[in-house]
Amino acid sequence: MKKVNYLIVGQGIAGSLLAVELIRAGRDVHVINHETENTSSNKAAGIYNPITGRQMVKTWLADSLFPILEPYYQQLEREVDLKFLYPKSIYRPFYSHEELNDWEGKAAELAYQPYIKEILTKASGIKGVRDEFGGLLLNYSGYVNLPDMIRGIRHVLEDKGNYTNELFDHSQLKLADGAHYKNIKADYVIFCDGPMVTDNPLWNYLPFKPVKGEILEIDTTLPEDMIVNRGVFVLPKNGHFSVGSTYDHDHLDYVPSEKGIKNLQDRLHKLYQKEYTIVSKSAGVRPATYDRRPFIGQHTDHPQVGIFNGFGTKGVSLVPFFAGQYVNYLERSGELLPEVDVRRVKI
Ligand SMILES: Cc1cc2nc3c(=O)[nH]c(=O)nc-3n(C[C@H](O)[C@H](O)[C@H](O)COP(=O)(O)OP(=O)(O)OC[C@H]3O[C@@H](n4cnc5c(N)ncnc54)[C@H](O)[C@@H]3O)c2cc1C
Repeated sequence: MKKVNYLIVGQGIAGSLLAVELIRAGRDVHVINHETENTSSNKAAGIYNPITGRQMVKTWLADSLFPILEPYYQQLEREVDLKFLYPKSIYRPFYSHEELNDWEGKAAELAYQPYIKEILTKASGIKGVRDEFGGLLLNYSGYVNLPDMIRGIRHVLEDKGNYTNELFDHSQLKLADGAHYKNIKADYVIFCDGPMVTDNPLWNYLPFKPVKGEILEIDTTLPEDMIVNRGVFVLPKNGHFSVGSTYDHDHLDYVPSEKGIKNLQDRLHKLYQKEYTIVSKSAGVRPATYDRRPFIGQHTDHPQVGIFNGFGTKGVSLVPFFAGQYVNYLERSGELLPEVDVRRVKI
């Protein structure tokens, strides 16, 4: 019988960074993960972006999340001895003179200053990009190559015999005096199963609202040191450009649809009018929730069972912060933000 403090189920970005934080806190961890291409983290673009949406506003908790983000991933790169963080400025063309004026005003506000690298008051000159009103270059942005990061953390776990590639069988979990699963006895079992939570009998009462997303990979001639983003993002990644993404709550599969790809191409055409060739198309499902906040914490009926899930469209920026907060809650009686505490939803 192997004894550990924490059994983690799922090794996407959520299970990976929770394992890292628990190990840093001196805890014994074992991870069970079903290896498949079709995970949210494998399909994600991996972008972190502090100013989002059509209205271009600071994203939820931006001031807490973004200043720590790049140092966090850089430290992890050193620990797993692998490169996966690619800081890149995001370039957001303005739609109108009014928008340019608004942002010139915001540049004087302390709340926005750290996020603004530069405001372009006229077109950038990037061939094909429609930006006649200028645009905004952001700080604290870029992407994380999630499959590479997850692979690096997996190797560390495997080297110590703390990883099993297996589909967790819920019928084999015994919840008495901690948690027993096959030959493992744990004080806690924490589920980080992403969109597959719908098959989890302990947590499938939660109001998840998964959303499919499609990404197009293209070849074209754009600068490689920035992400152009308006209506659609164009991200230089793996020697090509990733263009994304779509939002579909109705077809939760991993097959890129004709409609989704056309939608991406139409949006791309509004932003970028040079030729490109399509390299590949992909689709994934994001573990989003009804109120766009993660589900973190312990089960009302089984305090030895936890959940760390629901990171929706923003796993890269949210997970590092909340992995730390959750470990603080589990190990040092720290607090969870009420907005993310899973007990906000009654069974
Ligand atoms: C098209 C697309 C684009 C995206 N772009 C971005 C982006 O640019 N920036 C960003 O921050 N986020 C992005 N996201 C969202 C991001 O992918 C998610 O927030 C994040 O990956 C969720 O990670 P997770 O670990 O919770 O889930 P997952 O990555 O799905 O990991 C869950 C893991 O649990 C395993 N598992 C599940 N059930 C079991 C079981 N019973 N037994 C064993 N293992 C199990 C799965 O196999 C998987 O390995 C995007 C998502 C999509 C689909």
